[in-house]
Amino acid sequence: MQEQYQRLRKLQYILFEKYKVQDEIKDIPKVIETNEQVLERSKERYLEQNRRLERAKDKLKSLKIRLDDAERAREGYEKQMDLISTQKEYEALDKEIKDASEKEQQLRKEILSEEKHVEELISEIEDSEELISSQEEDLQEHRQQMEEELSVKQSRLRELEAEEKDLVVDMDEEILFKFERIIKSKSGVGIVPIKEIVCTGCHMQLSQQFVNEVREGVEYQFCPYCSRILFYEDAKTEETIAADIEAGSLSDLVDMDDFDLN
Ligand SMILES: [Zn+2]
Repeated sequence: MQEQYQRLRKLQYILFEKYKVQDEIKDIPKVIETNEQVLERSKERYLEQNRRLERAKDKLKSLKIRLDDAERAREGYEKQMDLISTQKEYEALDKEIKDASEKEQQLRKEILSEEKHVEELISEIEDSEELISSQEEDLQEHRQQMEEELSVKQSRLRELEAEEKDLVVDMDEEILFKFERIIKSKSGVGIVPIKEIVCTGCHMQLSQQFVNEVREGVEYQFCPYCSRILFYEDAKTEETIAADIEAGSLSDLVDMDDFDLN
């Protein structure tokens, strides 16, 4: 049984590390997703700017047509001036010419302002093009980094899985299944020693009879409160491990020198 406990303690380190690496692998593409979303929004904005430019150009075209019409109308009235004979006719025509001129002035102003608008849009579009191309470069760079990171983590994962495989080779599957779940839910600590009659994982008091069963070490015993696997060790080791658990860190709990990780 002692050998089994030793193996489980090695295994808990490997499993904890494995779950951590798996989580990290899952998180890596998220950076890229954010980059992709930013680029996507830039492209949408770029398309919208182009649509606005088309609309502005159409408006400019129609303003120019209206200006032509207004000019022709005024020229027509001016020609009619030669034909009028009464003061009343003169006044009426003079008013038409003034109105037409005013309209021309108004349209010229609108054309100038619309031309300015078109120029601004063109410059915005150029800025967007630059932004998009730099965001595409960033994305490319991040993709490359991601692939490198991913390949490092995946090879670490394969190492851990190989070590895990060696350790679990003839282990009881049900125990293993339970143990993996405890590791996941108890931040990496799945097997703890009993100190006197207290579980050093959750500090709950256990019955003397239960403690005796753990001590006999005939079969695996799970703490009825925190579900961790319990084992009994001599006082010195017990204290060391209990102190480490108090410190709350797995890396403290697991002495790396105990492991031959290769
Ligand atoms: Zn417990």
